[in-house]
Amino acid sequence: MKKKMPVMLTFDVDGESLWASRELDHLPVTRSLGTYGILEGLPRIMKTLEKNDVPATFFVPGIIAERYPEQIMSIDRAGHEICNHSYSHTYPDKLPSAAAEKEELTKTNEILERLTGKRPRGYRSPAWEFSENTLGILLDIGFDYSSNMMHTDRIGYLQVFDRKTDIVELPIHWVLDDAAFWLYTVRIPGKAIQPVSAVQEFWIAEFDALYEEFMEEDDSDLCFILTCHPQVIGRPARMKVLDNLIKHIKTFENIEFTTCWQTAQKYKK
Ligand SMILES: [Zn+2]
Repeated sequence: MKKKMPVMLTFDVDGESLWASRELDHLPVTRSLGTYGILEGLPRIMKTLEKNDVPATFFVPGIIAERYPEQIMSIDRAGHEICNHSYSHTYPDKLPSAAAEKEELTKTNEILERLTGKRPRGYRSPAWEFSENTLGILLDIGFDYSSNMMHTDRIGYLQVFDRKTDIVELPIHWVLDDAAFWLYTVRIPGKAIQPVSAVQEFWIAEFDALYEEFMEEDDSDLCFILTCHPQVIGRPARMKVLDNLIKHIKTFENIEFTTCWQTAQKYKK
């Protein structure tokens, strides 16, 4: 029987920490864009996922879990996966030491486990970038998967330069990231806001092309991973794009909406 292509909807619940990592959170209005993600964006996402009856994976910085425990617990209660997105959302290469970076990850695992009773299995870097210490830290802590690399469209094992690991890698890409189209503030020069119809068309075209390749290959490891941010996709009209994309994907036979951890487990078997 033909296997099904995993479809992973992932959400980076950055809140205000997205702006802290850009050293802009001393500006109350810029910072409030992050708050919007938690107060407005997240409930809209939860509703859209529930309506379509699909699971998702949420990457949460520890500081946001401490600030908004109710909201983070509601993600868990709805049956979605919650994983590690650092503590403060500081870019790993800006942290002063390997110990500081490790502390960011261990602290967040503790906070998330306290809230949900579950050990976070995966890690996504706040900058989609590693420091020279990141890989060693992920191995030390014992993460099962990473969702950071852009070298492939396939599920595989994480490799950094020549160093191979048995951590499953679930690849991402800027073209399937809402921030690449819509993250905007006057403080970030050179970014324009794209029309919702353009982004919808873009993501559907990406899915269709990938699915076609998946169907042509025997035993394909191709996968579709969308990355969104509550403060970015969480606007009313943009939420329709997510809703329409899910509905579009659901019309294909050989797909399964799944969480990152489920996908990683399946791949390792
Ligand atoms: Zn982030």
